[in-house]
Amino acid sequence: MSEHYDVIVIGGGVAGLSTAGNITEGNVLLLEKDRIRTEEKRYLRFTFMDSVERLGLLDCIIKRYDKISFQTPANRLDVEYNDFEFVLIDLGKLHRKLMKYLTKKQEIKEKRIVTAVKNRDKMIEVKVSHEDTVEKIFTRYLVDASGSSFFTKKIFNLPCPNLVCHCCEAIFSGGYTGDTNTIKFIGPSTQFKFGGWIYPIDKDNYSFGLTNNLNFLNLSLQSLDTKFKQVKYDLGLADKIESGSICDSNMGLIPVGISYPVIFGRICYVGDIVSQATPWMLEGVRPSLDASIMCANAINEALKQQEESLLEKYKEDWNFTYGTVYNATNLTQKWNRTDGEWGNSFKRMMKLAKMSKTHFLRLLKYDKMSEDAEEHLMGLKTKLDE
Ligand SMILES: Cc1cc2nc3c(=O)[nH]c(=O)nc-3n(C[C@H](O)[C@H](O)[C@H](O)COP(=O)(O)OP(=O)(O)OC[C@H]3O[C@@H](n4cnc5c(N)ncnc54)[C@H](O)[C@@H]3O)c2cc1C
Repeated sequence: MSEHYDVIVIGGGVAGLSTAGNITEGNVLLLEKDRIRTEEKRYLRFTFMDSVERLGLLDCIIKRYDKISFQTPANRLDVEYNDFEFVLIDLGKLHRKLMKYLTKKQEIKEKRIVTAVKNRDKMIEVKVSHEDTVEKIFTRYLVDASGSSFFTKKIFNLPCPNLVCHCCEAIFSGGYTGDTNTIKFIGPSTQFKFGGWIYPIDKDNYSFGLTNNLNFLNLSLQSLDTKFKQVKYDLGLADKIESGSICDSNMGLIPVGISYPVIFGRICYVGDIVSQATPWMLEGVRPSLDASIMCANAINEALKQQEESLLEKYKEDWNFTYGTVYNATNLTQKWNRTDGEWGNSFKRMMKLAKMSKTHFLRLLKYDKMSEDAEEHLMGLKTKLDE
C-alpha cells in the first residue's frame, strides 16, 4: 500500500463507492471495514424513476409501480400517484454497478478498519487496522462515507444527527392480498409509534417494513415476527398480511435531518453520516448518490487547481439544490405525528403553498422547485414560525 494518497474514502457503501468513482483527479484509496456488499439482498423503495434514469441505473430496477399511496395513519390524507414515478432498486446490484465505474487509479481495500484520523500539517493521517497489523497512511483529502458509525464526526466532536430512525423490514413469502402495482407508505404516528410500508416484490414475495425512533434493533427474528403481527393491526394492514411467513429480514438505522457541516477542513462528509435521507420516506440512496457527485466534483477541482478552498463548492452545491426545500421540510420534521399533525402539515402545505402534485412530489424529493413554489413555501414557513 502506497503511503500517500490524494484522497482516501472511508466506507464502501453507496456514498463511498460513488464518490470514489467520480473522482477523476489524483489517486484514490477506498477503505471498507468488511466486504463491499455486492451480494446484498436488499430493496430500495421510493426511488424516483427520473433520478434512476439520470444516474444511469436503469438496469438496477427490479420493479416499477404504477401507483404509490402515501397515507397518514387514520387516512386523513391519502395521496396517490399513477405515473410510474417510483421504482424498486436492487442494492446489491447497485453496489456492483458502482464498483464497475472504478478505474486503476481508484483502489479498493476491503477488511480495512479505519481506527483513527488526525489532522497533520498539510496531510491527514489515517490509522488503518488489518488483521494483526496497524499502519498509518496519509492523504490530502478525506471523504468520510462511513454511514451511521459517524466515524470522524465523533472523533472531532462534530454534530451528529439528532434523529435516527430504526428500520426493520421483512420479506414475506405468500399471502399478499394487496394491489400488486401499488407501493404503500404509512406515516409514523404518535399513537402507534410506528410508520410502515408494504409492497409486492414479485408474484411470491412482498415486503413489510416498520420504522420508528425507538431502539429495538436487537430483536430476534422471532420477536420481530411478533412485533409485525401486532403492528399490522395498528397500521390497518391486517387484511393484506393475512398469511405468509418471513423468509428474510433487514434491520438498521437511517439518520434523518441534515447535520452540518458537510465539510470540515479537508474532510468531506457524504451519505448517511450527514443524514441526507428524506424525512418523509427515508429515501437515503438517491440523496447519497447526488451528494457524492457534488462532493467528487469539488474534490476534482481542488486537486486540479491545487486549491483547498474549492472544496467549499460541495457545500454550495448542496445548499443550492436542497437548501430551501430542506428548510421548508423542517416544518414537519417531527417524526411521530398524530394524524392531525400529518394532515395539517401536508394539507396546509399543499393548500397554502398552492402546491400542485408536481411540486408536492418535488418537496418529497428535495428537488429544487420553481421559484414561485419556493416563495410560497418560505412564506408559509415564516407564517408558521411566527
Ligand atoms: C432497513 C433499511 C431500509 C432502507 N430502505 C431504504 C429505501 O427503501 N430507500 C432508500 O433510498 N434508502 C433506504 N435505506 C437507507 C439507505 O440504505 C442508506 O441511506 C444508504 O445505503 C446510505 O449509504 P452510505 O454509503 O452512506 O452508508 P452505508 O451503506 O452504511 O456504508 C457505510 C460503509 O462504511 C463502512 N465503515 C464504517 N465505519 C468504517 C471504518 N471505521 N472503517 C472502514 N469502513 C467503515 C461500513 O462497513 C459500510 O460499508 C434503508 C436503510 C435501512 C437500514
